[in-house]
Amino acid sequence: MTISILWFRRDLRLADHPALLAAVDSSDEVLPVFVRDPVLLARGGVRAERLEASLAALSADTGGALIVRTGEPAAVIAELAETVGADQVHVSRESTPYGRRRDDRVRRALAGDGRELVETGSPYAVGPGRVLNKSGEPYRVFTPFARAWHDHGWPEPGDRPDDISWAADPDSGASEDVDPGPGGAGRGGEAGEQAALARWREFLHEDLTSYGDQRDRPDLDTTSRLSVHLKYGEIHPRTILAELADHPGSDSEGARRFVTELAWREFYADVLWHRPRSAWRDLRDTLEGMDYDEGPETAALVEAWQQGLTGYPFVDAGMRQLRAEGWMHNRVRMVTASFLVKDLHVWWPSGARYFLDHLRDGDLASNNHGWQWVAGTGTDASPYFRVFNPVTQGVKFDPDGDYVRRWIPELAHLSGAAAHEPWRAADGYDHGYPERIVDHAEERRETLRRYDRARGDG
Ligand code: FAD
Repeated sequence: MTISILWFRRDLRLADHPALLAAVDSSDEVLPVFVRDPVLLARGGVRAERLEASLAALSADTGGALIVRTGEPAAVIAELAETVGADQVHVSRESTPYGRRRDDRVRRALAGDGRELVETGSPYAVGPGRVLNKSGEPYRVFTPFARAWHDHGWPEPGDRPDDISWAADPDSGASEDVDPGPGGAGRGGEAGEQAALARWREFLHEDLTSYGDQRDRPDLDTTSRLSVHLKYGEIHPRTILAELADHPGSDSEGARRFVTELAWREFYADVLWHRPRSAWRDLRDTLEGMDYDEGPETAALVEAWQQGLTGYPFVDAGMRQLRAEGWMHNRVRMVTASFLVKDLHVWWPSGARYFLDHLRDGDLASNNHGWQWVAGTGTDASPYFRVFNPVTQGVKFDPDGDYVRRWIPELAHLSGAAAHEPWRAADGYDHGYPERIVDHAEERRETLRRYDRARGDG
């Protein structure tokens, strides 16, 4: 009887799981393991909570076979492999800087005992690092990457194995419980593979075709909300792309836009793979000399931003949604990020850190490169002179003010788009909404002055 280990990480599902198929093919029984890594769990309480809900669903899907341990992964995995006599530990290939270092440690620990870490597949349709230009170099901007990514293509989804013989926990005394959270769902939506597939198919049938027109509208809230499922690997992007290709609406503008968004996720993972330092440093050094603010006065402004008390309704609605739901609409992520960087003059990593700590879908590659895009330091950076206006963005993308009123009860008495400009209404501040902490027009000019100086034009 041979046993292999399947070490789950960002792939908490059983269908379309290349590493699981490899494990099933290589042995009679598979020991399914998840390691709670204190390094990864040190921050981001909402992520930890959501992870638990996902693990609870996976545990149920394995008929309770999933074993969960806490500890340094190299020690935990090597010890388990030795205990059950597994020659191979199967994983999906990791692409974040920490994940790669950790896997190197695990690989070395296993090799010391003549065992092997086998990497099959990844959380992406095309594994990061695989799409290269004709000179064998990585792409630095999105559009040519997306074209090459599409041309590269991806295999059809793998089936869920019919009959998996799960191995028993070799030390049931060490078994750890998972906490499914209130109602078993975790905050802000159902967790697990079945919930991910249901969400995806609901979106495919109901909202895909209008996605092209409506994706920028936080008031309508019709985007897929798949980010959190993708974050935990409850669904593989290949499954999404294959079902999308078979759908009658696959030629629609909505479908094209949606595939483009998935390509952004793949692009940012690819950028992080090639340039791991870009996680926390400016990707491009053109703004190296940029002057950012810090100190107690700035800290008070940042605190107002975090609490949703800047006095700019669209920004505040987003920041309150983030704290309440652990999620924020993409358009509002751009506007709130821009406000921190360009209205409060704070270097992007501090905002990226705050988002990662509060997003359930917090993902190093998408989040930090999304911040860099807004800050003008990343790939495809929006031009430096582009500063989102938090008021006109709100009026344009939340034209009836519904999104703002949903999150800011102090503005519930203002009807329609008036909710975006309480300073214009005689009773705008009657219910405790704060006045604007900065003057956007003035801060925009200040940002442009600083950019000019940083670029040597000022
Ligand atoms: P949909 O519009 O339905 O898009 C479908 C999928 O495409 C998403 O689930 C996501 O996987 C991918 N996607 C969409 N837009 C982007 C994008 N701009 N970049 C990369 N992938 C994208 N996304 C995260 O998954 N985790 C993050 O931590 C994260 N932080 C962000 C921070 C900032 C400052 C910005 C501007 C964007 C960030 N994004 C992040 C990207 C995007 O905002 C979210 O993926 C999207 O809002 C999730 O909602 P959805 O699933 O309904 O998206």
